[in-house]
Amino acid sequence: MKIEEVKSLNKKQRIAAHTHVKGLGIDESGSAIVASVSSGLIGQERAREACQVVVDLIRGSKMAGRALLLAGAPGTGKTALAMAISQELGAKVPFVPITGSDVYSQEVRRTSVLEEVFRRAIGLRIKEQKEVYEGEVTELTPVETESDLTYGKTVSHVVIGLKTTKGAKQLKLDPSIYDALQKERVTVGDVLYIEASTGAVKRVGRSDAFATEFDLEAEEYCPVPKGDVHKKREIVQTVTLADLDAANARPQGGGQDIVSMMGQMLKPKKTETTDKLRQEINKVVNRYIDQGIAELVPGVLFIDEVHMLDIECFTYLNRALESTLAPIVIFATNRGVSTIRGTDVRSPHGIPVDLLDRTLIVRTQPYTLEEQIGILSIRASTEGITLDEEALARLGEIGSKTSLRFAVQLLTPAKILAATAGRDQVQLGDIEEVDRLFFDAKASAKHLAKLDADYLK
Ligand code: ATP
Repeated sequence: MKIEEVKSLNKKQRIAAHTHVKGLGIDESGSAIVASVSSGLIGQERAREACQVVVDLIRGSKMAGRALLLAGAPGTGKTALAMAISQELGAKVPFVPITGSDVYSQEVRRTSVLEEVFRRAIGLRIKEQKEVYEGEVTELTPVETESDLTYGKTVSHVVIGLKTTKGAKQLKLDPSIYDALQKERVTVGDVLYIEASTGAVKRVGRSDAFATEFDLEAEEYCPVPKGDVHKKREIVQTVTLADLDAANARPQGGGQDIVSMMGQMLKPKKTETTDKLRQEINKVVNRYIDQGIAELVPGVLFIDEVHMLDIECFTYLNRALESTLAPIVIFATNRGVSTIRGTDVRSPHGIPVDLLDRTLIVRTQPYTLEEQIGILSIRASTEGITLDEEALARLGEIGSKTSLRFAVQLLTPAKILAATAGRDQVQLGDIEEVDRLFFDAKASAKHLAKLDADYLK
């Protein structure tokens, strides 16, 4: 599908660590389920309950112009919570995590980086009515005519018979569709899907009856479609504004899907995503929303270490939050009162007070040993790693001494050690070995301080 070609460069690796998170795990009375297996979250009950309130505010369209700030020490699950919020909002809701320092690039202005990530976090659900012909092929006859210019014959059209459980039709197809039929190796007995407007052909499989008769592989079987041969189908696709920017910035077109179709909505072609291009796209998008063709799906933009942003970025954010095309913005920080970058003003969390005024603040608490062990156990099973009890307990201890993230990161190397020893299960010895091999950040810093004089400056 063409839609994949223009997919935004989502930071997959940041999300990968949180694949076990499926929701906030709140029960009907609004309380957090302490160890919620179905949502993948453990502990942090107060923060989860507060996040559920934010989800309700978002659902009730009461978060417009506001943002959420998650404040707490590193490794207290701020990213996991932001991810859970986006999951609660829906499976197809975009989730874009960045770190404050991502905006500092040599080539691009800081506010442009922010604008791009904003657009990656805004989805559009586009509904398209497609007319399709669908059924089992009962007849396939190319009709040839003598050509005046050559002595050969050319196919002038193709007659195809299609049958469903409800009825049958004979259709006359253009020769170009005949080429597509040949390419798909369509023969009588196949179940076909032809898109009316484009003539795109898809061979779904062999009809059951035919397959049994000729003893074909079971996976080739396909029931004859129920209903009419000719019908309307609603196709729903989700794209982001950034996808549309990219599709329209590319000096190329073609294809039949919605992104490339919308890739041709602006002419003349431009090769860069400029402000002007974005504005034009917004115009078209707003028109599509008004006409009911498209529906806005605001996603979640998660900005970790928000204190790394400077005053210019904060000014931009203040304004951008007001826009009708804005995602849900979640900030995270572990700073107390600090200087706002680009100024000498001090402020809570290093965030200007006017922006702070617009935020709801939720605190995250450090995990207990049991909670850490619970989280490590969920992570291990998500990564397909089995540990014996002693190993898990030791890893939990390491986590509370260093950080949860460090402990999580030891899982894979420990599994490799176990595998080298010919075991499927990670044991205490493997954990102790990897703990000796690798330094966590704090230990590394201590080591550097001790050996300061030996390092090049
Ligand atoms: P922060 O953003 O506060 O630094 P984080 O969400 O990035 O925290 P990590 O320190 O990376 O958390 O956490 C390590 C792993 O533990 C991640 O895979 C994360 O998804 C998971 N995790 C963190 N908190 C929870 C929780 N309450 N329940 C389940 N898993 C969690």
